[in-house]
Amino acid sequence: MTGTLRVDHAVSSGTFSLDGETFDVDNNIWVVGDDTECVVIDAPHSVEDILAVVGERRVKAIVCTHAHDDHVRVAPALRERVVAPILLHPDDRPVWELTHGGAADADGHLWDLDLADGAEIEVAGTVLRVLHTPGHAPGAVCLYAPDLGCVFTGDTLFQGGPGATGRSFSDLPTLEAAIREKLFALPDETVVHTGHGDDTTIGAEASALGRA
Ligand SMILES: [Zn+2]
Repeated sequence: MTGTLRVDHAVSSGTFSLDGETFDVDNNIWVVGDDTECVVIDAPHSVEDILAVVGERRVKAIVCTHAHDDHVRVAPALRERVVAPILLHPDDRPVWELTHGGAADADGHLWDLDLADGAEIEVAGTVLRVLHTPGHAPGAVCLYAPDLGCVFTGDTLFQGGPGATGRSFSDLPTLEAAIREKLFALPDETVVHTGHGDDTTIGAEASALGRA
């Protein structure tokens, strides 16, 4: 590890489309690492926006919290620039195919590596632990960074409550169960870095939603 372990952030603007409707959205880009290497969490609208946060560092992985187009649209283009694998939970395959189609590479992969609940992604001397939290999308994951005291929740949990479940592939009871089981088990002071909008904490959201 070189330099201080840290979380860097930018906001990227674009659109989200599902079920025949399109919306303007601002997405958070999160980059976890040190001065030498990093992991990119979500690849929304602009490769240049992401590379501005990465700088000269080596990208070890492009981790997708889920496959809605506003989180994965430029993942393949980013992979071309940084030569890093794209990681996604396999339950989001039908969602991924809406954006990138079903064409596999020579190895039969749509993306590069499957995420699984409990897996750990190593970067800069620390780990990001994968929490499978279906509901907003079937393959949605959160990434818990115990050494940093934070969790990256994508669209599973926002400041103010659970992510949207009104569209295809979503289910509110599934989402709330996953949040209570996997996220509310984390320490209350854990900072929640969301896919859109401001940070919150596990304690604040657990108080608002209720733990059971
Ligand atoms: Zn989403």
